Amino acid sequence: MGIVVQKFGGTSVANAERLMNVARIVTDKYKEGNSMVVVVSAQGDTTDDLIDKAMEINPHPSKREMDMLLSTGEQISISLLAMAIEKLGFPVISLTGWQAGFLTNSAHSQARIRNVHKERIEKELDQRKIVIVAGFQGVNRYDDITTLGRGGSDTSAVALAAVLRADLCQIYTDVDGVYTADPRKVPNARKLKEITFDEMLELATLGAQVLNNRSVEMAKKYNVNLEVLSSLEKKPGTVVKEVAKVEKMLIKGVAKDCNVARISVMGVPDVPGVAYKIFASLSSKNIDIDIILQSIGRDNTKDISFTVSSSNKDAAMEVCEVFKDTMGAMDVLCDDNVAKVSVVGAGMQSHPGVAASMFGALAEANINIRMISTSEIKISVLIDKNKSDEAVRAIHDAFIH
Ligand code: ADP
Ligand code: ASP
Ligand code: MG
Repeated sequence: MGIVVQKFGGTSVANAERLMNVARIVTDKYKEGNSMVVVVSAQGDTTDDLIDKAMEINPHPSKREMDMLLSTGEQISISLLAMAIEKLGFPVISLTGWQAGFLTNSAHSQARIRNVHKERIEKELDQRKIVIVAGFQGVNRYDDITTLGRGGSDTSAVALAAVLRADLCQIYTDVDGVYTADPRKVPNARKLKEITFDEMLELATLGAQVLNNRSVEMAKKYNVNLEVLSSLEKKPGTVVKEVAKVEKMLIKGVAKDCNVARISVMGVPDVPGVAYKIFASLSSKNIDIDIILQSIGRDNTKDISFTVSSSNKDAAMEVCEVFKDTMGAMDVLCDDNVAKVSVVGAGMQSHPGVAASMFGALAEANINIRMISTSEIKISVLIDKNKSDEAVRAIHDAFIH
């Protein structure tokens, strides 16, 4: 018995039947004597449909109005789930993000949670009510609605688990755990019983959408007892924790991110301070840079390439065009037909040869590597986008049998 936070994603609440199924999962846990806080996402493709609706009217809406629109998806889900639970005869109340006390900064569409004022939720829990909270949303200090970025309901759930000091945070989704690769793309992917916060954070950041990366970051910071499991099948899921059981697995997963673009600044003068000038200008515009590659100097010039997320592509190009005109670079090129494929695993720290196996798998599949970056527990390569699924499968097969 304790406080349990459960989160249900879009597929899990997509229609009346699924909502009744969720109501049963929640009330079963409630009947065991637990205090229940339940976070839900918008139903099915609602968020995407709302974005399409906005684009029809204005392809460049303000982010404030976009947040106002997108937050409605979750509001539909909370009320419907509350009605489903009422129907089963349990005390329940639904709360929007602001009613639940979510205070965020003002970065509309990518807001960060500053604080969760938990008094209202605690009051409802004291009355033994099941509390249903709209995920993905909060308010800033001007009481304007904000959203937390795609997949943000995971973060709402983990934040609640942290502030309420919940005994357990269960992320229910449409797969039955975290796999060694997206099980929809790689049929022989294996389910992991456990994975560390660090490995999960890398996988999530590198494109495994099963958990939002900010939610993992927060779960690590507050040591939240986190579990990923299926709302559709009753099966044990994957536990995400600080230290996982030592498994004889060199790598824990392969992830893919297609939302990347490569920008190349060609023929920049080969003198000190050039890289500084480019990257300082990008940083002043809050553009995050990922992989960086600089060529060997030739004829007193060199080329500098780097990757950014697709959403920052235009802003980064603008900065580089200005650099070209003021510093005398020859050309600025952008290529967004690329994808980043990565392997992740703490095991690679003590085992040389992971990079060689990964590159070997790509060579055998005749896939060209355009850029490489490594850290202690991951190796990423940039390749052609149309080869990305094939690359994931080839790399996965090389490590996981
Ligand atoms: P929800 O709507 O429940 O938040 P998401 O669509 O955001 O669900 O995340 C679940 C999806 O993540 C799965 O359907 C699966 O296709 C995808 N996925 C990608 N990588 C992985 C992985 N390594 N393990 C499990 N699922 C993954
Ligand atoms: N509904 C939002 C989205 O589709 C938030 C979420 O599902 O976590 O991204
Ligand atoms: Mg999600």
